[in-house]
Amino acid sequence: MTTATTTDFEPVIGLEVHVQLKTRSKMFCGCAVKFGAPANSLTCPVCLGLPGALPMVNRQAVEFGMRVGLALNCQIAHRVKFDRKNYFYPDLPKGYQISQYDEPLCFDGELQLPISDAAGNPKVCRITRAHLEEDAGKSIHMESGTLVDLNRAGTPLIEIVGGPDLRSPEEAYVYLTTLKRNLSYLGVSDLSMEKGSLRCDANVSVRPRGQAKFGVRSEIKNLNSFRAVRAALEFEIRRHIRVIEGGGTLTQETRLWDEDKLETRSLRSKEEATDYRFFPEPDLGLYDVPRQWVEQVRASLPEMPEKRLLRFLHDYKLNRADAEWLVGDRAVADFYEACVRLYDHPKKVAPWVVTELGRELNERNAGIGDLRITPEAVIELIQLLEAGKLNNITAKEIFREMVHSGQGATVVAKRLNKLIEQDSGEVDRVIAEVLAEFRDAAVADLRAGKQAALGFLVGQAMRKLRGKANPKELGPKIEAAVRGS
Ligand SMILES: [Zn+2]
Repeated sequence: MTTATTTDFEPVIGLEVHVQLKTRSKMFCGCAVKFGAPANSLTCPVCLGLPGALPMVNRQAVEFGMRVGLALNCQIAHRVKFDRKNYFYPDLPKGYQISQYDEPLCFDGELQLPISDAAGNPKVCRITRAHLEEDAGKSIHMESGTLVDLNRAGTPLIEIVGGPDLRSPEEAYVYLTTLKRNLSYLGVSDLSMEKGSLRCDANVSVRPRGQAKFGVRSEIKNLNSFRAVRAALEFEIRRHIRVIEGGGTLTQETRLWDEDKLETRSLRSKEEATDYRFFPEPDLGLYDVPRQWVEQVRASLPEMPEKRLLRFLHDYKLNRADAEWLVGDRAVADFYEACVRLYDHPKKVAPWVVTELGRELNERNAGIGDLRITPEAVIELIQLLEAGKLNNITAKEIFREMVHSGQGATVVAKRLNKLIEQDSGEVDRVIAEVLAEFRDAAVADLRAGKQAALGFLVGQAMRKLRGKANPKELGPKIEAAVRGS
């Protein structure tokens, strides 16, 4: 009986990610691509698979596919070739799916991850291929039977196949979040796992550390979140090791993740695997992909997050954690840069976007587009603070109210009566009051050299001023008054 632990085995993980492309119309017909329309309202003879209907390639989908491939440093094929993948399923009315078999649109790419490999180098995951295909419809299982909605049938998809380069569930999680972040910069998909526009299958095997040959792999399906991917991989790796250590034999199989029981279960083994009988799609010709088109698409790509991160670190001198958080969402990074364009103090702007705005986004589970605050309002607030018209605490209060109301900083500060008045008469009067009130206590302590008493007196004065003062200015004023009295 061995007492081997998980450290003796190395997991090998490769991920396949399906991304729905948000073109206006479907991959091979003119039907609209839209989520949530009445069932079967977005269909025509082509996507219903009626006899005699002929498909046409959506040029926008090919271009979106190229954007994805180029952003993942892929080569782009010189021609587009489609193949039929034959299988039967109730939500696949044609009895085959049009996909790309031996000539994917994009191949030989890579994705750099913001983590290091075992040797301390930046971790890179190969992108084996990314190919175009059409989505199937949806089966809706009811107690009375199964209904089929074919609105989704024919929606353009790109399947991104990562190399078997990931070595832990955590690396798989980082791969997915990095891939999603990069894709979000391209504007080709809404990338919602909830709506199914981003889907993931995971391939995993284990091998004794140091062995070159891969172990027997399982493919896990039905993964509905990145967290589920990580949990399913952890489960499956433990299961593989247990079988191997127990002297058992693993078989290559497809398994389903059960989100409730937190375990995988067998769906089918390799012996039962479908033979798809791929052959070239006879209703579609071969389409040239001129290099000029490829270069046009390449030139239209935005600055990608890796590059933007380096620029934020270099130009704005931000710390890495802040810079990484900012570039993690293109809209947030755009918002931050809009602020810096209005007020050229990137380090003063950063905490307002990273900490204050970040908290609001987090608490509301919202995107920046859902909030009503503008870069102009943020800068107005920072300038009020810099001018001494707000203190740090009231400024944060006003920030939250600005997010809520969409109003400017001055308007909110006046409405909440938080603006520090220029007239120092009230401040002087309050200081005199506080000094009189605590003459025998804190004031005496301060005279005796107990500095802690100053903080107490500042606090008392701030309270009487209802926060409408700057503690940094109150302190010296109180000290001067005590010395002078
Ligand atoms: Zn259609």
